[in-house]
Amino acid sequence: SLSYCFLLECRKAISRSGLHYLGPPQPSLPPASNGPNKDLRTCVDWTENAGNGDHLWTETSCSGELCYLGEDACLLKTAKSAPRRKCAACKIVVHTGCIEQLEKINFRCKPTFKEGGSRCLRDNVLRHHWVHRRRQEGKCKQCGKSFQQKFFHSKEIIAISCSWCKQAFHNKVTCFMLHQIEEPCSLGAHAGVIVPPSWIIKVRKPQSSLKNSARRKKRTSFKRRASKKGLEQDSKWRPFILKPLPSPLMKPVLVFVNPKSGGNQGAKLLHMFMWILNPRQVFDLSQGGLREALELYRKVPNLRILACGGDGTVGWILSALDELQMNPQPPVAVLPLGTGNDLARTLNWGGGYTDEPVSKVLCHVEDGSVVQLDRWNLLVEKTAVQPEEGTQKLPLNVFNNYFSLGFDAHVTLEFHESREANPEKFNSRFRNKMFYAGAAFSDFLQRSSRDLSKHVRVVCDGTDLTPKIQELKFQCIVFLNIPRYCAGTMPWGNTGDHRDFEPQRHDDGCIEVIGFTMASLAALQVGGHGERLHQCREVVLTTYKTVPVQVMSPTLRLAPSTLRISLRNQANMVQKSKRRTSVPLLNDPHAVPDRLRLRVNRISLQEYDRLQYDKERLRDISIPVGIVVVRGDCDLETCRLYIDRLQEDLHQAPSTGHRVHYQQDEIRGVPITSSTSRLSPNWSFLDSTSADRFYRIDKAQEHLHFVTEICQDEVFILDHEGPVGSQASSAGMPDLVVEPAAGLQNQGNDLMKRSEYIEVLNVAAVASVHHQMSLDDGFILQMINAPLTPDEQALLTAASTGDLLLLMDGVRRGVSLLVRDSGGCSALHLAAQNGHTDLVSFILQQGSKVLLDLTDRDKGETALHKAASEKQHAVCRMLVEAGASLEKTNFQGKTAADQAAGDSELAVFLSSQQQTSSGTNEDLETAV
Ligand SMILES: [Zn+2]
Ligand SMILES: [Zn+2]
Ligand SMILES: [Zn+2]
Ligand SMILES: [Zn+2]
Repeated sequence: SLSYCFLLECRKAISRSGLHYLGPPQPSLPPASNGPNKDLRTCVDWTENAGNGDHLWTETSCSGELCYLGEDACLLKTAKSAPRRKCAACKIVVHTGCIEQLEKINFRCKPTFKEGGSRCLRDNVLRHHWVHRRRQEGKCKQCGKSFQQKFFHSKEIIAISCSWCKQAFHNKVTCFMLHQIEEPCSLGAHAGVIVPPSWIIKVRKPQSSLKNSARRKKRTSFKRRASKKGLEQDSKWRPFILKPLPSPLMKPVLVFVNPKSGGNQGAKLLHMFMWILNPRQVFDLSQGGLREALELYRKVPNLRILACGGDGTVGWILSALDELQMNPQPPVAVLPLGTGNDLARTLNWGGGYTDEPVSKVLCHVEDGSVVQLDRWNLLVEKTAVQPEEGTQKLPLNVFNNYFSLGFDAHVTLEFHESREANPEKFNSRFRNKMFYAGAAFSDFLQRSSRDLSKHVRVVCDGTDLTPKIQELKFQCIVFLNIPRYCAGTMPWGNTGDHRDFEPQRHDDGCIEVIGFTMASLAALQVGGHGERLHQCREVVLTTYKTVPVQVMSPTLRLAPSTLRISLRNQANMVQKSKRRTSVPLLNDPHAVPDRLRLRVNRISLQEYDRLQYDKERLRDISIPVGIVVVRGDCDLETCRLYIDRLQEDLHQAPSTGHRVHYQQDEIRGVPITSSTSRLSPNWSFLDSTSADRFYRIDKAQEHLHFVTEICQDEVFILDHEGPVGSQASSAGMPDLVVEPAAGLQNQGNDLMKRSEYIEVLNVAAVASVHHQMSLDDGFILQMINAPLTPDEQALLTAASTGDLLLLMDGVRRGVSLLVRDSGGCSALHLAAQNGHTDLVSFILQQGSKVLLDLTDRDKGETALHKAASEKQHAVCRMLVEAGASLEKTNFQGKTAADQAAGDSELAVFLSSQQQTSSGTNEDLETAV
């Protein structure tokens, strides 16, 4: 029986390790059910041949480790480079040539299901699956000491751990007790999401199957209505059924991994999930069987689904759920792989997977809240006879993200996506390649997009938008369901900025219609948005010429057609929430420390890759950057500001909100920040709290994590471009400290609220902040007061000379519009002074509001002062309209109106505006 095998296996394993107290070795059992001729099993077997305890042999590059069989039983002990296999489910490593040997001694994998027909009650009790380990992370559950980590291949077995619950003990009589062998296993920390083997039942082939097969046939034909392939695959699944024991505490997770997304990531994740969960709840989408898996699990209460892949994978799963009409539809969480991932971003799952432990991911899936996602039908209604060019068949008739017409932003932004996906690989050669891909873009796209507005008719809920589209000469029209588009941009704009429209939501039954010109498309990546056209429930779209369209796929040529976009249904999704468990103290104000004093240490990417699993070494070689003092409930987004501030030169203008100083007792008056040790803007936080290793936090998710969640008194950051562990460490140097200034108790508080707007400092999204930001200028601006890089210099030069393209290019590449020249002039100052209205317009649209009233260092003048001095009428009007202060005085006490002296028209305009604006703002708004 099963339990007998279990016991035996443990005894055998332990007896080999020299713990002979268990008594004489048991006689060998006959070879395991799978015959000797069986091929190596590399994925979960769902056929009648499935054996309970089959290992899942994956390829491995492991070479250092000894064969699991140990010195006595291994057949290949002398062949050091003999190929090995690793079991995904129990993580043992064995020579490929020794696998049969393993079956002979009957070391079987963890059982993943229950044999039908066995009525023995004991079979419902899951026991630990003990495995010997020559390497083991963490600490012994019995004595609390860590496992002695031997370098490379240790022959010694140091630990015994359970491959279900992951409990680990020293391989000593004093730590691992005899009675533990038979103890039931709780399944460990992830018991809430693991499908217990006792739920999955392999049905025996019925003896007289006449009646059964008739019944089955009936069921099959019913299913086949939806899928014609059903029958073939159905037979493969027949031997398994699910008998869940519902528990309100459980939220079993079905994991679907698309190994084709995100390079190698998918395959690795697949194996990690098989290790942490029951391998029978983890599915490789490249092996087919999505529908079958969903059907098998459809009756499991509180089921959740984790889709590992791009947004396309999520859409695929949602469509399968639609077809099966599961009620209630299990909510779908996302582990984003590859690039783009706008749906994943919308639901807080981030833009891509780095190296967060899957155990953390599973906690987020379990804790996440269920939200609704609108899904849209996209149907070609009328078709012209015999189109000359293009197709009328779309790859999808449902979409979750967007449908677009014309020169889609995905083309222009391919560059950005690639960089985001491969920051390390993004060298100049790669960049050039991307540039050529963009430059060589097909004629068709350009030609047909230029005149797009002349060849389409767009009617939204009965309102004809065509005249407006023609008037504004849009070259691209996007029908957008979620706020994110094209790898995280927000074409609908920010919520503070809406005027006539509602903020965009993914669950309001409305789709947003947005128009773009080439310029607004280019500006999208730096925080711009398109022209908001409509929010509606139905769109009728007619095209009179072959035009490019995109639906989650490369551009297609759509022949003249009539399309109808209408609400299809709403899907249940899991949204990642800020972990309540991670800050258990939040409800108890006394428990949250008022201030945290954190030493910041930096680690280079190269060292991180090399020593990721050696926390102590990484800690030792990390380079101290300084100390930040933050509030106890500070999130990472806010903490980033403080850390960036460490970079600034102490001798720059004093900050109003922050105190920057060297540690008091060690003042030597020498600034330690040299150009070689500057942090690259592209750095990320490392979580140093998980037991086995450091891992990085997705930049897009920093607002979701509290500082206390990732570190204790030292915070580690990963510098993607930084120098390798230089020995020029600042050993004797004083520590630079950044902390909120004394007496400004509210500062930290404001910072928290402001942090939502402080994407300003996130160089990739510099300009996304053009709403009510009340940040004190000094604070933000000092943060970017460093010596100028060539890119920053180029941006300022472009602002002076009026080169819009160069300016846009700089912003697109992440240069902040808040950079200032040696005199403290920003791009807005320079463009305003020189009367470049188009640049001023771009900067006002893309830049932070802070820019408006920013004063230069030499004269204390705003951009409006500069424009007024130079009598730039148009620019002055634009600045005033944008809300520039008319009262602000320069070092000589003069307002902008004073500066306009000599130009009576301008002076009158400015002073009249000044009077108006002295009234209450409410009056002004209603007057207009
Ligand atoms: Zn071997
Ligand atoms: Zn195994
Ligand atoms: Zn266990
Ligand atoms: Zn121990």
